[in-house]
Amino acid sequence: MRFSLGFFPTLRDAPSDAEIESHKLMIRAGLIRRVSSGIYTLLPLGLRVHKKVEDICRRELGISNAQELLMPTLNPAELWQKTGRWDVYGKELMRVKDRHDREFCLGPTHEEVITNLVANEVRSYRDLPLNLFQIQTKFRDEIRPRFGVMRGREFVMKDGYSFDVDDENASKSYENMVAAYERIFKGCGLSFSAVEADSGAIGGSFSHEFMVLANSGEEEISNCESCGYTSNVEKTPVKLTYNDESSNGDVEKVHTPNAHTVEEISELLKVPNSNVLKTLIYKGQKNNYAVLIPGDRKLNEVKLGNITNETGLVLASATLVKELTKAEVGFAGPIGLENVSVIADNSIKGRKNLIAGANETDYHHINVKEGSDFECEAFADLLIAEDGDECPSCNAPLSHQRGIEVGHVFKLGTKYSDSLDATYLDENGETKTIVMGCYGIGIGRTVAAAIEQNHDENGIVWPLPLAPYSVDIIPMNMDDPDCVEIAEKIYDELVHKFNIECVLDDRNERPGVKFNDSDLIGFPFKVIIGKKGLIEKKVEVKSRKTGKVEFVDFDNACQFIADLVSSKVSL
Ligand SMILES: [Zn+2]
Repeated sequence: MRFSLGFFPTLRDAPSDAEIESHKLMIRAGLIRRVSSGIYTLLPLGLRVHKKVEDICRRELGISNAQELLMPTLNPAELWQKTGRWDVYGKELMRVKDRHDREFCLGPTHEEVITNLVANEVRSYRDLPLNLFQIQTKFRDEIRPRFGVMRGREFVMKDGYSFDVDDENASKSYENMVAAYERIFKGCGLSFSAVEADSGAIGGSFSHEFMVLANSGEEEISNCESCGYTSNVEKTPVKLTYNDESSNGDVEKVHTPNAHTVEEISELLKVPNSNVLKTLIYKGQKNNYAVLIPGDRKLNEVKLGNITNETGLVLASATLVKELTKAEVGFAGPIGLENVSVIADNSIKGRKNLIAGANETDYHHINVKEGSDFECEAFADLLIAEDGDECPSCNAPLSHQRGIEVGHVFKLGTKYSDSLDATYLDENGETKTIVMGCYGIGIGRTVAAAIEQNHDENGIVWPLPLAPYSVDIIPMNMDDPDCVEIAEKIYDELVHKFNIECVLDDRNERPGVKFNDSDLIGFPFKVIIGKKGLIEKKVEVKSRKTGKVEFVDFDNACQFIADLVSSKVSL
């Protein structure tokens, strides 16, 4: 591609609504343009990268015997009503009506359509297993679209589904897909981690998330260096024990003016944070909850949602706190608290010397003992794992890093096959339910995550497999016929003889402008034809990633570049 004929609208500055690096760089490097909130046009460079990710998916899924099909974007409401998700999915489901007033949705995922298809086609155990996928535009009416294509309303997904005769075979399909996903993200040249995850709203009993590791990631991952355990921090089990010294006396109310926070109270009473009982008041759909955790730890809201079986739990407002505890925020405690469910972290059981809010503004209780001074309705693991916590598999200390979720695989069981009658006849002629798995990769998210992981102050640093073009040929002086001739010759040979994806920057621009654009877009290799090189009959080949330079004879230049692009040599 000649730069002069290309549509590469690079920008010096990012728009003010771009909060994260990948969003800024995708705009600045001319990969995307915003059409409306959470809706983007993929420009030619952005589409090329998208297609690279798609092609890697197709290649690896094909090796794993998954077949591509294409389902409609428009899904009839009836199918979604059968699985109950028409009601459950809420406002994120984009709903439309046709001219006959029939209801449809724009599919955010396709379990309904594909399970219905398979239910109609599969008769016998001989028709199974099946593994089908599509790469398609999805819709999700996000309440607050942001981060560019990372959380858009319209986005491209690879979604796949497996169908098996029983759990054992479904597990094999699942493992097969986990292996394919590992090859896909490795094939993209990304550093990633496959972690155990909470299954969330999609249901199912077991799942893994694929995270691209990046400091800017919104997910936190627990890691054990000793045994290799990895898990989304939302799911990591926490086991803590505190060995309190027995308190000297009975519960006593003490004056603690203006001490609202754990830090303020521990400072005032000269005790460690861990001796302060944090009492958090949550409002649910079914009930209000007082959640007790040690003062030195953070609550895991996902675990709280699972134990209470509540979706949409929120911290109580100051008004509700006052109504329930008769005190200002900061003085809640379990003693004498009524009309709320008291739920405590496992580590609170048997604590002997706690400080708790007295449900009276500016007062706390000291010498509080669990069991005798207050009782809990339930104990559960309610904490967020932290560095140094014990690994649930081997007890070695855990560490944490951040990541961006780009893929998610689920064992679905029979959740969808039950509601859509997806059955088959087994060897004995008995009717059995098909066991399913589902597997997603956000194509646009993978592109954005690749940028979050691979950029510097000058722009994007594409991993070679995802780069829109591998090589940027830069003649330094367009007025010098020798310079232009060599550049054209190398371009011609790389494109036609070596089949390499190249850009020839044939613009009448200063070298500085060309270098800046090249770094911003992130072409992995620059081939620079300059004055000194022309005298010595050498071109300068420079790596975007390492900054290293090699001067190569004109005659060997194309072969050297081809070897670089095929990773036979490195720079
Ligand atoms: Zn471990």
